[in-house]
Amino acid sequence: MDDSENFIRARDNETEGRYLGTGWTVFRDFDTVQKTEHNVRLRAKWRDPGLPQFRKGGKRSYSAEWAIKDDNAAKFYAPLREKPDLFLRFASLAEQDPGIEDRDGRQEITMKWVKRYGVLGLEYDNGSAQDLAYGRRSVRRENLLLFWDEVHRAAGCITAYRAGTAPARMLKRSNIPGKTTTEKRMSAARLLDTQLRHKLKHECYPKLYYEVLRETGEPANVGLSWGFRSLLGAMYLQLAWRIKSRQCQAPGCNNVIDLHERSDKETCSRTCKQRRKDHRDRAAAKPATSRALGAD
Ligand SMILES: [Zn+2]
Repeated sequence: MDDSENFIRARDNETEGRYLGTGWTVFRDFDTVQKTEHNVRLRAKWRDPGLPQFRKGGKRSYSAEWAIKDDNAAKFYAPLREKPDLFLRFASLAEQDPGIEDRDGRQEITMKWVKRYGVLGLEYDNGSAQDLAYGRRSVRRENLLLFWDEVHRAAGCITAYRAGTAPARMLKRSNIPGKTTTEKRMSAARLLDTQLRHKLKHECYPKLYYEVLRETGEPANVGLSWGFRSLLGAMYLQLAWRIKSRQCQAPGCNNVIDLHERSDKETCSRTCKQRRKDHRDRAAAKPATSRALGAD
């Protein structure tokens, strides 16, 4: 099972299809708003410049429907429903990073992403990237430096997550801080915990679904799930589900166990079941303790 399947399974374990409808817009054409040595700030054009119907008598005139329809918007989609492994795809960009000195190389990769999945949504409509800025997250603006910072942060989360179950010899070679395997695992878990906490707090919000019966107005279904303020937020929801979902208990495996499997199932496959048994037989019966990290 590859990790994409794990992301899909985790989402299906942790939420329901009807709660995955929050949408995000993808635009075709962008203007460069600002260019510096290492950064480029981009903004989606307000319409496709090639469309003649907006020119009348040599002057630009916009029809009334223009207020709601933007011809530069290529599509509107639901990332959680349609791209359940987007977090993985995003984190994997880290391997392609040509580095901060190659601004144009970075821009090329960024544009490819943005035209396929949309901007990350880290800037606000007023052009600010501040946490405390008022207003809506922009679906039109992208900022190259912020984009690549987040790519590496996401890749770091994947590394930290895998460190939780990785064999000791792999951890030894990693650059995760800590002297012993346990120390490395602890610092990886702390990093992941901090990242997820921050992202869920700033980029996501709880969303109530209150459905009533059309005929009588009586409550039919009330559900509590998640919405997101940015595409980045949607991706971190995917990561949170991935981590939270019931996982294989065999050493070194973190495959997600399907919701529909028996509730006492602890491993993802026969092979893992046997490995788990062998491991247990070998290990002296040491009681394991767990504790919450940095609870606030
Ligand atoms: Zn397994």
